[in-house]
Amino acid sequence: MREIYLKAPAKINLALYIKGLREDGYHELQMIMQSISLADRIKLKKKSGGIVVKTSHVDLPTDEENLAYQAAEIFFEDHPEISEGVEIYIEKNIPIAAGLAGGSTDAAAVLNGLHLLFKKRMNYESMRKRLEIIGSDAPYCLEGGTVYASGKGEIIEELPFIGEKYLVVVTPSFKISTPKVYKLYDQLEKRYDSDFEAILDNLKNDNKINWNLDFKNDLKAAAEKICPEIIEIKDIFKNTKAKFTMLSGSGPTVFSIYSTRKEAEKVAAKWPRKNDFVTVVKTIDKY
Ligand code: ATP
Repeated sequence: MREIYLKAPAKINLALYIKGLREDGYHELQMIMQSISLADRIKLKKKSGGIVVKTSHVDLPTDEENLAYQAAEIFFEDHPEISEGVEIYIEKNIPIAAGLAGGSTDAAAVLNGLHLLFKKRMNYESMRKRLEIIGSDAPYCLEGGTVYASGKGEIIEELPFIGEKYLVVVTPSFKISTPKVYKLYDQLEKRYDSDFEAILDNLKNDNKINWNLDFKNDLKAAAEKICPEIIEIKDIFKNTKAKFTMLSGSGPTVFSIYSTRKEAEKVAAKWPRKNDFVTVVKTIDKY
């Protein structure tokens, strides 16, 4: 096998609670993560040596800054016996710096894909450990699905899939730096009093998700202050039949969940803000 094609799905946060600030400077998190069908497409092709990244998106770095490049570096570090290299082509469909884990999912797909391409074995547990170096969301992105993530986001507990739901995902052109949002959160509010147990309980024990529970994103106020367009987008969603609307991660992506694909498509087709990235996707199970 000389080449392999991969799919790298995006994630949304159904809930993001901040429990506190850790001694290492990171925040202690409690999150519900969910994979969606919006995905980057990646091609890995063996080459004579070294790592080359090519992408369809002009704003993406192609050197060591690219998280997919970093994942390949980890793979070749772990396998010094391999003399060949790899060319990585990323068809970027997930908006960048949008709270959708676009970089992390590319990294997870590339690490997994290189093991397949070069016929090397590594269990998912060990791969998740290696991906922690790249970013807190990267271990989750290896398999996705509906998950409870804690710690910095790297401690993963699988939950029952919430089922196929249709969403409208909207990303304004404004790019948000995740560290900047957390920094502003620390300045704005020091309340670390979230009660997450009811949500977890519902997701673990009930196969019907209870949207009336207090699903929330603690980064909301900080993200909205940095990017007020988030409020405009939420206001538009308010006038639709959305069952649930939420900011994803540190934003600025906002998504709404609808009962049917048709309803979601209707909202997307009439979206009034012309510069937003708007797409209809569905939730997907573990891959
Ligand atoms: P998260 O939800 O995990 O916080 P995000 O969706 O907000 O992530 P990314 O799309 O992963 O953010 O981009 C964050 C930064 O990572 C950007 O500045 C981008 O240039 C850089 N980056 C490096 N490699 C990639 C990649 N393969 N895809 C997207 N961004 C990348």
